[in-house]
Amino acid sequence: MADAEYLQYGGSTTCLAVFKKNGAGDTVPLIVDAGGGIIKLGEEIAEGIKSGAFSSQIYLLFTHYHCDHIEGFPYFAPLFMPGVHIHISGPLVQTASGEAWTVERILRAAMAEPHFPVSLDELAATCSFDSAPLNTGKPFTPLWKITSFDASPKLHPKNGARYYRITDPDTEKSLVLLWDIETPADKNSAEMASLYAFAHNCELLIHDTMYTDAEYADTEHSVHGFGHSTYTMALENAAGAGAKTLAAFHYNPRHNDAFLRALEKEKKMLFPQEGQKLKF
Ligand SMILES: [Zn+2]
Ligand SMILES: [Zn+2]
Repeated sequence: MADAEYLQYGGSTTCLAVFKKNGAGDTVPLIVDAGGGIIKLGEEIAEGIKSGAFSSQIYLLFTHYHCDHIEGFPYFAPLFMPGVHIHISGPLVQTASGEAWTVERILRAAMAEPHFPVSLDELAATCSFDSAPLNTGKPFTPLWKITSFDASPKLHPKNGARYYRITDPDTEKSLVLLWDIETPADKNSAEMASLYAFAHNCELLIHDTMYTDAEYADTEHSVHGFGHSTYTMALENAAGAGAKTLAAFHYNPRHNDAFLRALEKEKKMLFPQEGQKLKF
């Protein structure tokens, strides 16, 4: 397949940014996950910092640390700019062998030799790290109210994932981010009920949409337990949470533009394209 077939909806891995202006009129970026999409975003932010349009305070949240969610981090241009402060938060991971991995340890390992020529300690920017769950009593940023939901391995294999609810205090409207997630066989579990309460009445729900129903039903190449959703699961979860608008996210790398364009016509949800800006 030609590369051009992936140019519309995008071929980058997971990264989402929320922009809001601070009191001084500078745009403050709040980024969730550092997949390949953060590379282009980083160039836009770096340009904005240079021109004075963007704040030098950047906020970065991680849902979890699978490769597709961290691989763009070393290439994030603001890391190499003096005077930039990147506030980073992501869940603490307890591996099966009993090791505890903080977000700092994971990013340090990703940038250590032989993976990358510049270590975390050699960056021009300042990075600070936190692994604690987010709640509005302990604000991560002054511009948004952010709460987090730590999902168990029943929703995403081995280490679970952290989902976020980002509320604009000026409008009280919320954005909820549910990826990577697979609805468990027991749809009425206590965990799913808590998740619906967490996402209740959000303005915009951005949800993992990896598989079609046919792909999920395929028993020969079963994807059950991979930790990703079908479009139907996304619609069910949007209904369960009472979300006002649902947007597809984390597209399947095997679904090219033509395939997604056809799905967009039949599913009742938004199909954002790479770089597209949505309001909530
Ligand atoms: Zn994952
Ligand atoms: Zn993923």
